[in-house]
Amino acid sequence: MCGIFGIENNTNASVLAFAGLITLQHRGEESAGITSNGDGITYNSHKSMGLVSQIFKEKILNNLLGSVAIGHVRYSTHSESTLLNAQPFVYNCIHGNIAVAHNGNITNFEEIKNRLAKSGSIFNHTSDTEIVAHLLAENTGKTFGQIMKKSVQSLKGSFSLVLIHGNKLVGVRDSFGFRPLVLGKVDNSYILSSETSAIDAVGGDFVRDVKPGEIIVIENGKIVESLQFIKKTKEKLCIFEQVYFSRPDSMLCERSIRDARVQMGKYLAQQMKHIKADVVVPVPDTGIFSAKGFSLYSGIVMQTGFIRNHYVGRSFIKPSQKMREITAKLKLFPIKDVINGKRIVLIDDSLVRGTTAQKIVATLRNVGAKEIHLALSSPAVISPCFYGIDTPNKSKLIAAVKSVEEIKEFLNVDSLTFLNIDSMKKACGNGKVNNFCSACFDGKYPSPIDRRKLLV
Ligand code: SF4
Repeated sequence: MCGIFGIENNTNASVLAFAGLITLQHRGEESAGITSNGDGITYNSHKSMGLVSQIFKEKILNNLLGSVAIGHVRYSTHSESTLLNAQPFVYNCIHGNIAVAHNGNITNFEEIKNRLAKSGSIFNHTSDTEIVAHLLAENTGKTFGQIMKKSVQSLKGSFSLVLIHGNKLVGVRDSFGFRPLVLGKVDNSYILSSETSAIDAVGGDFVRDVKPGEIIVIENGKIVESLQFIKKTKEKLCIFEQVYFSRPDSMLCERSIRDARVQMGKYLAQQMKHIKADVVVPVPDTGIFSAKGFSLYSGIVMQTGFIRNHYVGRSFIKPSQKMREITAKLKLFPIKDVINGKRIVLIDDSLVRGTTAQKIVATLRNVGAKEIHLALSSPAVISPCFYGIDTPNKSKLIAAVKSVEEIKEFLNVDSLTFLNIDSMKKACGNGKVNNFCSACFDGKYPSPIDRRKLLV
């Protein structure tokens, strides 16, 4: 996952991009960057490894002059987590300077890169995003939207993009709409963002979702082009956005993430009617609203059983297993008097590798939990994601290699319940858009993937 943000026609563009990125920080904590367009020709960029608040100081933002800015927070799924691959990328080509920031995973990247390399292209980065600039350089058209249309037609996989071209802010979303991209407005400036919460953060209003397969070109506070780069689109928004990634104060498919999570918790409680417990304890932060829904439906009181150390990042999106383990240890501290002697329903969003859950359960046992009933507000993750989430290896997915009984034993829990897939979809849908990608839960991939990778 990554977070992207763009704003145009605004004298404070880079400051607002900074505020947007702070709000999207949960989507990637490895590196961050902002590029602004100073005078229509010169682009100013600053990017570094680390958190947004550590990277951007007032002096740096003051130097990022210009009325158009795009920003990026990175969580690497495709290439190494290095400064070299920190975005936005800036290129000079036949169309002038172009800056690009990407959320997603282009699955036919190798194939396109090989073709480009054979015809003489030189690559500066190891990231899949770079091919977007090369494809742009290959194509011509009457308008930038037309050039973009020709350039992204051959891309497969997931891509939500924001770009700067001159004074223009450009947004693109793949034909399945795997990754979110929303349009907002503040005063006379349009905003593009991964999540609506970042639009709220800069005082703007949500306008609409960028449609799957849409290219939107904005200049001087006006949408100058909106075109589909492919006729046939089939919405398949990543359902993991509702389950885990997006902020609870964001809206997706015109549905609040908070509501969706409360609903997931209610459905979980229905599945677990037979369980007797004293207290519902969420794993913060993503388990909180599902625990609330569980508590509302079951009547079992919800209590805060953990204090989360907010100075440590999200364990799921740390790049290495070692970092994830260290982070998990530092992250959650149990509140003994809530736990000791109690039968606990422990609510978390998902079970991916199982290592974090194992540590959390051990922590609860250490402070005297009598019974632990682990409830996940999503089904078992059984297949890797090829569209931008870091679960590339099936052998690392605990539910793909162990039975429920074996997982129970591994985690040392008294019971284990996964939300069933239909309930998850029902909770996340808005009655209109119910077409989600749920491939990591059911193995049904909406777009072609290299099946050999499933065997790893
Ligand atoms: S495979 Fe899973 S994580 Fe990946 S896009 Fe689909 S639902 Fe999201």
